[in-house]
Amino acid sequence: MNEARGLSIQITGVVQGVGFRPFVYATACNLALRGWVRNTNSGVEIAVDGSAAALERFVVRLKGDVPPLARIDQLQVAEIEVNGFEAFEIVASSETGQGFQPVSPDVSICPDCLAELFDPTDRRFRYPFINCTNCGPRYTIISDMPYDRPATTMADFMMCADCASEYSDPGDRRFHAQPVACPVCGPQIWFEPDGQRGEQALQATRRLLRDGKIVAIKGLGGFHLACDAHDSKVVQRLRAYKQRADKPFAVMMPDVEAVRRHCWVSEAERSLLESRERPIVILRHRPDSSVAEAVAPQQATLGVMLPYTPLHALLLERQLDIPEALVMTSGNPSDEPLVMSNQAAQSRLSPLADAFLLHDRQIEIRCDDTVASVYQRPDEAASIYPLRRARGYAPFPIRLPWEMPPMLGAGAELKNAFCLTREHHAFLSQHIGDLENYETLRSYETGIAHLERLFRIKPEVLVHDLHPDYLATRYVLDRAASEGLATLGVQHHHAHLSACIAEHAYPADRPIIGVIFDGTGYGTDGTIWGGEFLLGSYSGFERTHWLKPIPLPGGDTAVRHPWRQALAWLHTAGIHWEERMLCVQAASDRALDALEQQIEHGINAPLTSSIGRLFDAIASLAGVRQSVSYEAQAAIELEALVDGQEEGVYHFTLKDPVIDAAPVIAGLLRDYTANCAVGTLAARFHNGLAVMVRDVCQSIRRQHGIDVVALSGGVWQNTTLLDRAIPLLESAGFKVFIHRQVPANDGGLALGQVAVAHHSLR
Ligand code: ZN
Ligand code: ZN
Ligand code: FE
Repeated sequence: MNEARGLSIQITGVVQGVGFRPFVYATACNLALRGWVRNTNSGVEIAVDGSAAALERFVVRLKGDVPPLARIDQLQVAEIEVNGFEAFEIVASSETGQGFQPVSPDVSICPDCLAELFDPTDRRFRYPFINCTNCGPRYTIISDMPYDRPATTMADFMMCADCASEYSDPGDRRFHAQPVACPVCGPQIWFEPDGQRGEQALQATRRLLRDGKIVAIKGLGGFHLACDAHDSKVVQRLRAYKQRADKPFAVMMPDVEAVRRHCWVSEAERSLLESRERPIVILRHRPDSSVAEAVAPQQATLGVMLPYTPLHALLLERQLDIPEALVMTSGNPSDEPLVMSNQAAQSRLSPLADAFLLHDRQIEIRCDDTVASVYQRPDEAASIYPLRRARGYAPFPIRLPWEMPPMLGAGAELKNAFCLTREHHAFLSQHIGDLENYETLRSYETGIAHLERLFRIKPEVLVHDLHPDYLATRYVLDRAASEGLATLGVQHHHAHLSACIAEHAYPADRPIIGVIFDGTGYGTDGTIWGGEFLLGSYSGFERTHWLKPIPLPGGDTAVRHPWRQALAWLHTAGIHWEERMLCVQAASDRALDALEQQIEHGINAPLTSSIGRLFDAIASLAGVRQSVSYEAQAAIELEALVDGQEEGVYHFTLKDPVIDAAPVIAGLLRDYTANCAVGTLAARFHNGLAVMVRDVCQSIRRQHGIDVVALSGGVWQNTTLLDRAIPLLESAGFKVFIHRQVPANDGGLALGQVAVAHHSLR
């Protein structure tokens, strides 16, 4: 007989509101251990008596078999005196003061709840708000911590006796599931304009979708606008209402089987589609798909997600007459944040929607769908390549290898997300949007206030981009002045580099080569950067190489009209503008004259080394696009055309430290004139960029002996370019880091800002 021993165990991480105590309880009972478990300020605490062997197995299982939503940061075990407990119990929580808890993101419906949803004998049969400790809304319904029903928007609903008994039974899978509800006591759906409820509301919604109408559907973190993705007419109507000419819409399909009829799906892509985060996954769109071209015009890909709430599961039920693919795009007028409340939906979305499917569970904080690609490398377990980080991921913190003071990273202008720090956690917010109007700025400010309250963070340092006109920069400077806080400006591409290495917990004392290809970023010399090779780390950098700066005639106008960029590149390369060139044809005679003046005299023509702008110029010269309606459109369409078999290369010239694209421009023009297919031109350009990346990295290695590379900046959303650059770098002996947790675009910038600030201020 083993002698009894006692243990005290402290666990931190995401361990509250995720079924952790019942899991501890069940594990302890299973091993015949005695003692108790409770929630504390900072996690979960256990005291336990038992035999040494059982205790050892207990600790192993605590680490290994955690519930799906839980995440253990630290588990500390200490020997204590045997207490002489008689049973195992879940005991009352100890006080929560200034302690804090990571908050779980919202989680898609779990298999157990899905089975109950379609089980006619279950009391939640066809109930659109079924959930349990392993699934359902979290982040978007939580108004404060500690996470408890009164601090959620479920406080509006009083639990019925059945729900209350499940909620308080440690053996039940709904034990302390705060959003627990049922048809008797929980939220309900209804249809507007006619007020039908329940099944009738669902039927009315399906009927309208089938009939080519647009329905605004209230979801988890906001509204979607839904319509039949096979019907060009309604998709075009939605585009006109949303003032969104070309930017692709995401679609929702009932299951992977359906997705395979429209897209090619690899094993890794399938697993991401079906993961409990259920992001929108960018898939290769099959040419034989019946999804209308207008859903994703000029794209080789389609963004697809699977149903993630019980309401979606009911709406898209297979046996029923509903289009197989539904457009499900964010419910907001152009450029404004997601609509959250029923009232706002009815006032702001009524010009866009023919009807509404509403419910009465309030949304506390808005959260868009996450968008991700899959990019697989043989030596990495992760294959997700995030493009927009939101539902399912935010506000899970990114764990950094340092204890940080409380800071705010303000992020950038476009695709904004901000970042708050506490200890070794970097809480990167969900995607906020483009900070270009009052509504989005308001959403940004309330989002910051909300997360500061949830995580009990009072930032001492506010970190901003060097661009003086970003609204995020102005927010920081205003706030710092009124609250007397310290500020730090961080160069845009230095922040990109730091974001990429921080998420891999890369050590601070080892310099790395950052290949930062981007659209726009304010440089330390006042010009616009975006084609940069940086050598350094969090605390500083040296700009070793850059793309030859060329004028950006007309500033922002040139960003919207790639032909301007093409003309500027031709001028710089000493190539005459000729009538047969598409970029010349796109311009009026007056515009050509004005442009020449701007370029030659540097009037409203800031210099830029941006690779994003080079993509624009190439797309214009190759006849892909002369004007754009959304950010990076020309580059995305150029990438879509790449001929995967083509091995030709347009070579850059490298005269340290400047990289010149003039021979690339000349080569492309020569091929264009010889009637080469556009796919060939696009491929040779991508191949040339990849070769240039390797060659410049080799040059840096020769001088500095560094052979580790990080790829960041918005241009690296281009997985075709990744596909070409990474093998070249690896076969030249470089170790390459890419983004896995935060986007390579400006959506990940705030993480880099706080990493730089931490190391600069130490
Ligand atoms: Zn569930
Ligand atoms: Zn109930
Ligand atoms: Fe950027």
